[in-house]
Amino acid sequence: MKKEFVVIGLGRFGGSICKTLIEQGMEVLVMDRDEARIDEFASIATHAVIADSTDETVLKSLGIRNFDHVIVAIGADIQASILTTLMLKEIGVKRVTVKAQNDYHAKVLRKIGADNVVHPERDMGKRIAHNIVSKSILDYIELSEKYSIVEIAANYHLAGHSILDLNIRAKYGITIVAIRRGSNIIVSPQAGDVIEREDVLIVIGAVEDINRFEKDLLLDK
Ligand code: ATP
Repeated sequence: MKKEFVVIGLGRFGGSICKTLIEQGMEVLVMDRDEARIDEFASIATHAVIADSTDETVLKSLGIRNFDHVIVAIGADIQASILTTLMLKEIGVKRVTVKAQNDYHAKVLRKIGADNVVHPERDMGKRIAHNIVSKSILDYIELSEKYSIVEIAANYHLAGHSILDLNIRAKYGITIVAIRRGSNIIVSPQAGDVIEREDVLIVIGAVEDINRFEKDLLLDK
């Protein structure tokens, strides 16, 4: 059975979520109080509704409780974002993901029961900053305050050595979970696998351990 989603707020973030879900074959109902936004998405989304999400009657009449997942992508109007989230959880929506504008907003959202709070601008800023600071860090995804997944370009220090030779897990406490080699992905590489110059390593570990690894083996000294 296809999963059914609701996206509330069709700014750049909500719009992008909607388009990607549709590309993935999902059913998506979109809601925005701005008619022009709805006109733009009416031909893309499964259903499109011009409505204010802070109106509880509207939420109930749409049977929002029966959807698998609601994404609240309201931006500047923090009050509307909080009120909408509160009502969705009170109505009994199982999974609600909300875009937060700042840390205080995020804290309130968690308190009132949001299942997932995302900070797209902050997270993207971090990812880009890591990539700017280090040529070898291609991408950076924060899992928690302490742990991250990082995409690292191999260099001549690493090339020609096996994972066992480099002894990365014992020395740095980080794990190579996959290697991207051209269009191939080697998932869970083995100790004997030898790293090639153009490889991209996908590494998981504590941020401080990844930094240590980067200082020792990746930065040109
Ligand atoms: P982005 O960065 O994703 O482009 P933004 O952070 O600038 O978005 P806004 O443009 O403030 O966010 O809001 C996103 C969308 O949410 C807008 O299209 C707006 O009309 C819609 N929106 C805001 N409040 C409500 C509401 N109460 N009900 C329905 N839609 C709403």
